[in-house]
Amino acid sequence: MDITKLKEMKSVQERVDEAVNKSHAYQADLNAMVSFIDPSEQIENLKHIDPQAPFYGVPVVLKDLVNMKGTVTTGSSGILENYVSPYDATITEKLRAAGAIIIGKSSCDTFGMGGTNMTAWTGPVMNPYDLTRMSGGSSGGSAVLVASGVVPMAIGTDTGDSIRKPASYNNIVGLKPTYGRISRYGVIPYASSLDHVGVFTRNVKDAALSLEVLAGRDDKDMTSSQLPVEAYAKLLNSDLEGKRIGIIQNVIDAIQNRETLNLFKDLCDQLTAKGALVQSIHLDEKLMHAFLPTYYIIANAEATANHANLDGLRFGVLHEGNSMEESMIRSRTAGFGKLLKKRFVIGSYALFTENQEEVFRKAQKVRRLIVEDLKRVLCEVDVVIAPASAQGAPKFDDVSIDQLSSEYLIAENYMALANFSGYPSITVPMGYVDGLPVGVNLTSAAFTEQLLLNVALAVEESTGIKDMIKEPKR
Ligand code: GLN
Repeated sequence: MDITKLKEMKSVQERVDEAVNKSHAYQADLNAMVSFIDPSEQIENLKHIDPQAPFYGVPVVLKDLVNMKGTVTTGSSGILENYVSPYDATITEKLRAAGAIIIGKSSCDTFGMGGTNMTAWTGPVMNPYDLTRMSGGSSGGSAVLVASGVVPMAIGTDTGDSIRKPASYNNIVGLKPTYGRISRYGVIPYASSLDHVGVFTRNVKDAALSLEVLAGRDDKDMTSSQLPVEAYAKLLNSDLEGKRIGIIQNVIDAIQNRETLNLFKDLCDQLTAKGALVQSIHLDEKLMHAFLPTYYIIANAEATANHANLDGLRFGVLHEGNSMEESMIRSRTAGFGKLLKKRFVIGSYALFTENQEEVFRKAQKVRRLIVEDLKRVLCEVDVVIAPASAQGAPKFDDVSIDQLSSEYLIAENYMALANFSGYPSITVPMGYVDGLPVGVNLTSAAFTEQLLLNVALAVEESTGIKDMIKEPKR
């Protein structure tokens, strides 16, 4: 059921009660929520909102990086464990104005740094399709709350693939629009040149609707675009006639799983049958092998700078020492987990004066080459496509993947190309591999969200997988 239907079928009180009840009932199994927000004031406030507003009385969830005045926003970290937002993020304001009822904050990898959701201060988030498997991250809480039917839409952020990977693992739609399309004001940053705000929904139409509500120029975010927002939902159409779709052959070649490859091939055949011109494209293989190291250097360097203010004095829980420096060291030592510390070491290393040219600037140059390569391909095709993951969600204790293999470096990490470039990118359900959901990912040129959503709708119609709800069962 899409959001428009939901509004027709159930009263505000019914849909909010149902979401709140489910969010509590599933917490023991999924561990997806970091904090719950009492919705009564927001419901009361609906009297000032036009009942025709797109999200009127629709329950939604914010990733725990998004500020909402008077609520706890921890970034799923220890250091901001009791941080209360003094103001609303722009997207929070926009959601409120559209009538949405925010019922809580969802778990994520600490400050969005990770792909497993196992680094959240409140513990791992479970995948509703198999509770012994991970949700994926970093926006894992938001993904499973949509997948399990708690809310029809949840906010995520995506710096490397943090919306589009968990969407794949949870059989839902995950949209990361163009850099600058949605304001990031009031969203705790990870890496500012790569960070994007986006959404999880159970169908493409709801993703289009959500984008319409969230997008637009915001003077409080200097990176936000002046381009007008289109009527994405109204203009949605799945006509593929003449659309040029490029299969990223490097990703296909790096995938071992036959089931994934077969599903993908079937889908491409269907898109061809619908009139699309489907062809293989090749990105520079050497550059693709450099995606992850390039990403880690840039992302961690920016994260190190962004999080320098979390020292117990300016922000964060203070652990007092005998001097200011000792207090900062103690606060940061207590407030960050192992993975973040590791990343701050990498980030600091890249930013040392003596390393900057050799490490940080070099990564920026490689990033430029990657973007040029993608641009070249997007002159030949309208959209590039490939499976969003080589298989379903891994088990929590899975260490089997060789992190130097092409399968890992390319097939599991190529989606960062949409962060390097800032181009819009969407994951849509593709099918089931070994009984687990796997998605397909599409990326197109800057600010071509309408085109991207249209092709995504055609994919959705081809697979027939939409509006899926998986209740967690032991
Ligand atoms: N998995 C990537 C990382 O660990 C991506 C995270 C993200 O997109 N926020 O940095």
